[in-house]
Amino acid sequence: MIIETKNYNIYSGGLEVFQQLQAFLNDKNYSKIFILVDENTKEFCFSYIKDYLNHQINFIQIKSGEINKNLETCSIIWNELTKQNADRKSVLINIGGGVIGDMGGFCASTYKRGVDFINIPTTLLSQVDASVGGKLGVDFNGLKNQIGLFNDPKAIFVYHNFVNTLSTTEVISGFAEIIKHGLILDKNYWKEIKNFDKYNLKELPNLINQSISIKRDIVNLDPEEKNVRKKLNFGHTIGHAIESLSVENDINPLSHGESVAIGMICESFLSYKINNLSEIELNEISTFIFSKYNKYKIDINNYDKYLSLMCNDKKNENNKINFTLLNQIGQSDINKYANFDLIIESLDYYRCN
Ligand code: NAD
Repeated sequence: MIIETKNYNIYSGGLEVFQQLQAFLNDKNYSKIFILVDENTKEFCFSYIKDYLNHQINFIQIKSGEINKNLETCSIIWNELTKQNADRKSVLINIGGGVIGDMGGFCASTYKRGVDFINIPTTLLSQVDASVGGKLGVDFNGLKNQIGLFNDPKAIFVYHNFVNTLSTTEVISGFAEIIKHGLILDKNYWKEIKNFDKYNLKELPNLINQSISIKRDIVNLDPEEKNVRKKLNFGHTIGHAIESLSVENDINPLSHGESVAIGMICESFLSYKINNLSEIELNEISTFIFSKYNKYKIDINNYDKYLSLMCNDKKNENNKINFTLLNQIGQSDINKYANFDLIIESLDYYRCN
């Protein structure tokens, strides 16, 4: 199916999306085609695409992982573009998860004041969320997505079967953003999501298309997150702080989605405390998320660091930590604030539940 946005199309489905990619590239007549991959997407994903590319390809390969989503890796990408003579009529095709999409888009948008880029998201998380909406960037000084900009890809091609080679952890990571879409906007979708079986991937294409459409609708209304797009930040204020520290300190760091899942439990607790979410719905949400995700051991000694990271969150305004909170399942409010004591209480709620 084709999901239209204001500025570009999202092609979502089976192998036909690569025929659509081929037609798109033939039509655009780019001077050079650059492919950005990491070691996993080169091994598991590129082979599906290569037969549809009747062009000469210039490869750029980087190391996978959030730990490499930084300016050093950007230098590698910019260096390669320069070495392989990319000009302003070149295109960069990002084949990968959210890390490749965010960083590749950022590098393309800043190289020679901007060359076109295309996203081929290969993780569930990037298919339903990260590749759509034009937020690009990298982490800096231990802060998530601290350096970046808004810019749209020229097109997105979502091949559903890429999820087949993902680990269960990666599937469940992407599932967190799907859960979020139901919680903030659509109670019926939430009911559908609750029936999802992580071992039965056949159900996923339907959820992928619905989530892409939800994200598209919000971004169309508010592309630069001045208003309603902030709803998509539910779970991310606390989630980002937990993710940042985990990436820095843990031998097996939490994924983005696992961190957001923790953030959604804590922020549902805040929603119950200060935004009229009922206790019944708080329990419904936390029981469901706890049933899908392994419990993470939050260290009480890290509370100050979490708070300090939250104080540095770029979503804040007027020095207040900014939250999106639920008032009921399927409805959310932006620009809500919680004090330190309450945030700590919410971390305790997760820890002790
Ligand atoms: P990721 O990009 O790190 O990918 C996870 C792992 O899966 C990597 O090791 C990757 O190499 C591997 N992989 C990718 N596709 C594969 C496949 N088909 N088969 C096997 N392995 C595969 O993680 P992610 O969860 O996709 O993205 C997380 C990032 O997305 C974070 O940096 C987050 O900040 C960002 N994000 C951005 C937005 C946005 O709006 N721009 C939204 C949400 C998240």
